[in-house]
Amino acid sequence: MASTRKGYHTDGHLHLFIDGAPIRSSGIEEFKNTLLRYNIGEIYDMGSRDGLGLKFRRYFEDSPLILRSCGYALYRDGTYGRFLGRPVKDARDIKEYIKDLCGNKADFIKIINSGIMTASGRISEGGFSGDELRIIVDEAHERGLKVFCHVSSPERIIEALNAGVDSVEHGFFMPEEALHMMREGAVSWTPTVYALKCFIKGPGRTDREVLEGVLKDHMEMVSIAARLGIEIRAGSDSGASGIRHGHALLEEKRILSVLTTGSGRTFFPR
Ligand SMILES: [Zn+2]
Repeated sequence: MASTRKGYHTDGHLHLFIDGAPIRSSGIEEFKNTLLRYNIGEIYDMGSRDGLGLKFRRYFEDSPLILRSCGYALYRDGTYGRFLGRPVKDARDIKEYIKDLCGNKADFIKIINSGIMTASGRISEGGFSGDELRIIVDEAHERGLKVFCHVSSPERIIEALNAGVDSVEHGFFMPEEALHMMREGAVSWTPTVYALKCFIKGPGRTDREVLEGVLKDHMEMVSIAARLGIEIRAGSDSGASGIRHGHALLEEKRILSVLTTGSGRTFFPR
């Protein structure tokens, strides 16, 4: 991967959706212009079912905006991830998808190893077995591709780290033990704090007090991670419903700059 564009922001985690709906090719110019207006020069597309990042790659070729894409994510069949990727039933699927993504020049592999935050402040079902995780990481690393892992809940995070993923995406309910593992293994973290804040403010949240507590703990772990020297990546999760491209990244960077003050860490992807 080329180095980060100087003077531009990098959004380390977004989706090629607008308010939860996939961007159409007719909407790409407007999407690019929005990001450029916010001085964003590089984006990491974290997946869509139809692999839009790979399909739309040509629209970025003569643009000052660098697109890095996983194409589609891999998720465990029958659990969370349908909008973001393709379902994995067995090891054969894993090998087939990673070979296909590599052949289509994906920049990295994105996997989903847990569900998402629920209205009551729990993490829904999702994720792979330890063996499956190891096969994913081995297949990706053999092809020189890093593995970015959507994962929340202490057990799921530790399982992903044991398998050797390169970046933790979201990482809600991060246990301190995992931070030490991340430091050891030079694993980065994209904590998507602003996205969590937006989620909490959304309609129908049944237990706001619990959710506020989750947010508070999450922010504390980000501060500890920065002090430990873990690479914190700024990612907006924009494109998800209620999270706007551009604006959300600036909000995330503002939050991270407060949480990581004094740690001497920058929060750009390498
Ligand atoms: Zn995401």
